[in-house]
Amino acid sequence: MPALMGQMMQMPLLISSLIRHAARHAGDTEIVSKRVEGDVHRTTWAGIEERSRRFAQAMARLGCGAGDRVATLAWNGYRHLEIYYGTSGSQLVCHTINPRLFPEQIAWIANDAGDRVLCFDLTFLPLVEKLAPHLGGVQHYVLMTDRAHMPASSAIANLLCYEELVDAEDGRYTWPEFDENTASSICYTSGTTGHPKGAVYSHRSSVLHAYGSALPDAMDCSAADVVLPVVPMFHVNAWGLPYSTALVGCKLVLPGPHLDGKSLYELFEAERVTFSAGVPTVWLGLLTYVQSNDLKFSTFRRTVIGGSACPPAMMKTLQERFSVEVIHAWGMTELSPLGTLSKLKAKHGALPREEQQRLLEKQGRVVYGIDMAIIDDDGHALPWDAKASGNLVVRGPWVIGSYFNRPESPLVSVDGEPGWFPTGDVATIDADGFMQITDRSKDVIKSGGEWISSIDLENIAMAHPAVHEAAAIAARHPKWDERPLLVVVRKPGASLTREELLAFYEGRIAKWQIPDDVAFVDELPHTATGKIQKLKLRELFRDHRLPA
Ligand code: AMP
Repeated sequence: MPALMGQMMQMPLLISSLIRHAARHAGDTEIVSKRVEGDVHRTTWAGIEERSRRFAQAMARLGCGAGDRVATLAWNGYRHLEIYYGTSGSQLVCHTINPRLFPEQIAWIANDAGDRVLCFDLTFLPLVEKLAPHLGGVQHYVLMTDRAHMPASSAIANLLCYEELVDAEDGRYTWPEFDENTASSICYTSGTTGHPKGAVYSHRSSVLHAYGSALPDAMDCSAADVVLPVVPMFHVNAWGLPYSTALVGCKLVLPGPHLDGKSLYELFEAERVTFSAGVPTVWLGLLTYVQSNDLKFSTFRRTVIGGSACPPAMMKTLQERFSVEVIHAWGMTELSPLGTLSKLKAKHGALPREEQQRLLEKQGRVVYGIDMAIIDDDGHALPWDAKASGNLVVRGPWVIGSYFNRPESPLVSVDGEPGWFPTGDVATIDADGFMQITDRSKDVIKSGGEWISSIDLENIAMAHPAVHEAAAIAARHPKWDERPLLVVVRKPGASLTREELLAFYEGRIAKWQIPDDVAFVDELPHTATGKIQKLKLRELFRDHRLPA
């Protein structure tokens, strides 16, 4: 007997449907942006939708067609939001680039993605002028500002003005319908070896992620919220908030480059923000400002903290001193990014407060749409008993299947069943499905929510004539969570000081990626196959105090 097929409409899940929905049902709801230019700008979801259409027209006028990549180097702001929707909605691909990377890395990423247009904020004009000679494929440079702020001259020939491009169009544009599996955006993640790798999201994966992330046991977004994403729009689409806030039609507040404690606090208060999201490091800055000035939040009620482990003390301060609910979340670029969030079940209501707190401190339970397992080194699933610790693997409609431009599959099998993405995180899971990260098997350092490749650091050290062998590991840091520590064996008879080696990094890597400290040792621990035993090294230096 053939299966009986469903008889519901076939409508592709397209990103344009999110912005059309927001414009239709929350058309007068505000989008507030603190601009790079210094002032506060106000528009609405209807305004964003209208200008996204004009942006789509402008890109078509520049000769861009389906599949072309339009890159951004930009802060969280309304123009960036218009580019998000204007590109994806018209079948172009939005490629958000992290401006904190070293210029060579940015150029490599833009060339790998095959970017045709680069849109950027005023802040990044000097950077883009330096990059331009190395960006072979970029045909158009768009400065995201108005005529009044355009530079009198620039090293970039034919620099285009965003406002002029948008103003020149009439907005008579209908969002096209196409296959929901079409690419919508690309985001690069720092690889553990070699170059960064591109995660290509589809319309389908982005819309499903927006649905999942707005659920009550996830970010719990509603039309009654005022949302301020501190997490940048260049880092995994600001955890999908530009999409999920359109889906629920709530007010959105975009802080631009103004991420210090004072600026954020003033924006939270002025715009009556109820919900925010970001990495632990930004909350440190905000909390320090609020506490040292003895201030209170009037409307802020809930925050998602993730990207790195949320320190329990920070969680407690936000909960107890400021009555802000903290939702600890885990995710990855390869997961669009949401995987798990820590929310209690009804049955946990009966637990003593301290036990509830311990659950909330874990990385949490999966959102529907994500399937997870922990496995041993032979690919066998381990029990969910909160004790067995194994490699965390996931699968689902918003999990990466393959990287851009990389033929090899990253996927692994669980008990012989193929199709699981290995996260590089090591975790336990309890009987209720609460996942807790216990370690990381991938060889990277995460400082203030941004990756530093230990391999890049080691390669530079090894290029120094006095270095025999070097290993970069993460050392604990109170502000940045992790900072790089270099463990070095000198060549026999060679002399080399900490200062000399650190000076060697200048100009070879972004300043903030330079190690904080160097420890000289006689030898490094190795495995039987000759690899450096990073785990052992991390244990040896667990209590290492970095210089202030
Ligand atoms: P990214 O792709 O830059 O978002 O980084 C993803 C990685 O950040 C994960 O694989 C983890 O190693 C780490 N990470 C993200 N969220 C958390 C968290 N809540 N606790 C610990 N590590 C986290």
